[in-house]
Amino acid sequence: MKRIAILGSTGSIGRSTLDIVATFPDRFSVVSMAAGSNVDLAFEQARRWRPQLMSMGSDEGTGQLQDKLKKAGLDKAIEVADGSAGSVKVSTHPDADFVVSAIVGVAGLEATYEAVKAGKTIGLANKECLVAAGDLITVEARRQGKPLLPIDSEHNAIHQCMRGGRRNEVQRVWLTASGGPFLNTPAQDFANITVEQALNHPTWKMGQRITIDSATLMNKGFEVIEACRLFDMPPSQVSVLVHPQSTIHSMAEFVDGSLLAQLSVTDMRLPILYALTYPDRIESNLRFPVQELRRLDFEPPDLERFPCLRLAYEAVEAGGGKTIALNAADEVAVAAFLEGAISFQEIPATIKAVVGETQARIPESISEVLQVDADARRRASGRIQRLGPRDAVAQTSWATWRK
Ligand code: NAD
Ligand code: MG
Repeated sequence: MKRIAILGSTGSIGRSTLDIVATFPDRFSVVSMAAGSNVDLAFEQARRWRPQLMSMGSDEGTGQLQDKLKKAGLDKAIEVADGSAGSVKVSTHPDADFVVSAIVGVAGLEATYEAVKAGKTIGLANKECLVAAGDLITVEARRQGKPLLPIDSEHNAIHQCMRGGRRNEVQRVWLTASGGPFLNTPAQDFANITVEQALNHPTWKMGQRITIDSATLMNKGFEVIEACRLFDMPPSQVSVLVHPQSTIHSMAEFVDGSLLAQLSVTDMRLPILYALTYPDRIESNLRFPVQELRRLDFEPPDLERFPCLRLAYEAVEAGGGKTIALNAADEVAVAAFLEGAISFQEIPATIKAVVGETQARIPESISEVLQVDADARRRASGRIQRLGPRDAVAQTSWATWRK
């Protein structure tokens, strides 16, 4: 029986994880869970899964959860915590041996790092952790002798492909990208992209932040950085290929010229199951109808229309604080876009400005990472406020962030 802690239980990855637990009740149980603000769903999950500990993002949510648990007669059985200390308590719970890291953004960093430090095996969905603090996390995981098992579908695919040879035989990895909803949108139409259009991802159903990041290709940029750090590769050996069908989840290219690709359904339950059962594989019903497969298309990414990808390559080349700022500015800019405060094109413009103002100095601790993160957030928010109302922002010309 594998005993799991879930960070981000009410999110898209968290719910898919619980679906796997429900499908294989003899193999997995839930020890502890951390959620953000969805008290109703957190309560439902607590009632269904009876974790020993449940944490909410804020003390307000915790109070509401406690009331609900009391009414249900569960307040004695389930401990409640809150905030980042609560998430750390969840991820380092002594009875948990596997942690699914699926809080969105840097909010999940401390809990993930502390879980690594506590010697837990991690199933990593939260790529922002590696973008902001990749070296600190991977060094600690190596010291603990515990794997960081990628749940992000591309890295999960590469992890699988890499088992086909020795590490030093892998010459390059190819991350595939669906291209998002604007793959074929002409450059002049980008100024009018709406929130609704940007949230309409063609192949995956995910949380809001990653969906917008997929529309700007920043998600792929983060994934380039994630691959560099997970697989210890320079950015020059991590390439991106647009593949609109999202059937090949990624590939590893070996020194002899062989390319190994992983194909499967576009369903995150499969990479979650792989991480949870690694190094074994178990039978599932997540089958891919390969006999119905007719075509696989590929094209290079367009860095002119999608400058976020280029910004990510530049940030990881420079390293240190630059990738922290990349993520922090993106978090702030995406939230502002979702609120209608800035235009779609202001997302890369904001990131570019904030990363440009941030030093590349390598942080030596998680608290230093969080400091650089907070500074970058302040800069991003300040810039957005200075931009003024949405109408003025929409005028931002293409040329301002285009090289
Ligand atoms: P989501 O928005 O659906 O869920 C995020 C979860 O984090 C929710 O449970 C939310 O309550 C929780 N949360 C947010 N702030 C919190 C806080 N301060 N404290 C505690 N909990 C908090 O997002 P998602 O799509 O499930 O993505 C989660 C992570 O997985 C992201 O890092 C994303 O990049 C990554 N990921 C997701 C997918 C996918 O298919 N959804 C694929 C690959 C990687
Ligand atoms: Mg991915």
